[in-house]
Amino acid sequence: VLKAEAVSKSFGDNLVLSGIDLELHAGEWLGILGESGSGKSTLLRIMGRFLDAEQGNIFFKGNKLKPVGGELIPGHPSIRLIHQEFELFPNQTVEENIAYSLRFYEVQYRKEKVSELIATAGLENVRNQKAKLLSGGEKQRTAIARAIAEQPDVLLLDEPFAHLDNHNRRVLANAIEVMRKKHNMACIFVTHEAADALAWSDRIAVLKDGHMVQAGTPSEIYNNPLNSYVAELTGAIN
Ligand code: ATP
Ligand code: MG
Repeated sequence: VLKAEAVSKSFGDNLVLSGIDLELHAGEWLGILGESGSGKSTLLRIMGRFLDAEQGNIFFKGNKLKPVGGELIPGHPSIRLIHQEFELFPNQTVEENIAYSLRFYEVQYRKEKVSELIATAGLENVRNQKAKLLSGGEKQRTAIARAIAEQPDVLLLDEPFAHLDNHNRRVLANAIEVMRKKHNMACIFVTHEAADALAWSDRIAVLKDGHMVQAGTPSEIYNNPLNSYVAELTGAIN
């Protein structure tokens, strides 16, 4: 559904991404794994149309997307990106934040859907809490529930598990899994934690210094790492 073709990007003379080819298939979970500074967030922002590549193109369902340029609202309605520092409405409650995504629907459906998402994301006990008072993990789950409410074709998540303990990691991953199955939603998530990439991906793409080092299934990446960087990242050697 979403494809990056020969994408390169520099900031000043810092070449951050170099000739990246990456294709996300419908319904797929794709993990992008790499060290801090390897270009993961930059690639995700380019694929989510929040940032323009210098070279290369992004395709959505086979059609080339135009550059963001100076657009005020750069997002694509079918591609939802959740930034590393997610943005919620701080003075609105969890429920209100999620309901915002469903504002075009009549009230009965909206209420049911909000409750369903709150349950799926394990947010019942904070549903009436203002977003600014939530813990990092609660914010993360609220942001994802809000994005999922829009039923995007593609969900792009920057470090979705960073603030979560093992239990909430599973809650969140299961919530995404449910949506994926229900709506054939595809998901790219960025992580520097090999365990998360290995646990949740259909396929993993490994980035190093802006280069795509290796892409494959978790077992290919773990059992047949192309080089010592990949092996070290996955913990196959330490
Ligand atoms: P982390 O795991 O720490 O989030 P990352 O893999 O997501 O790292 P990026 O945020 O993509 O890395 O950054 C890659 C490189 O690009 C870094 O060297 C960073 O300093 C640089 N960079 C990112 N955004 C900008 C920007 N807007 N202006 C200048 N340099 C930037
Ligand atoms: Mg990042």
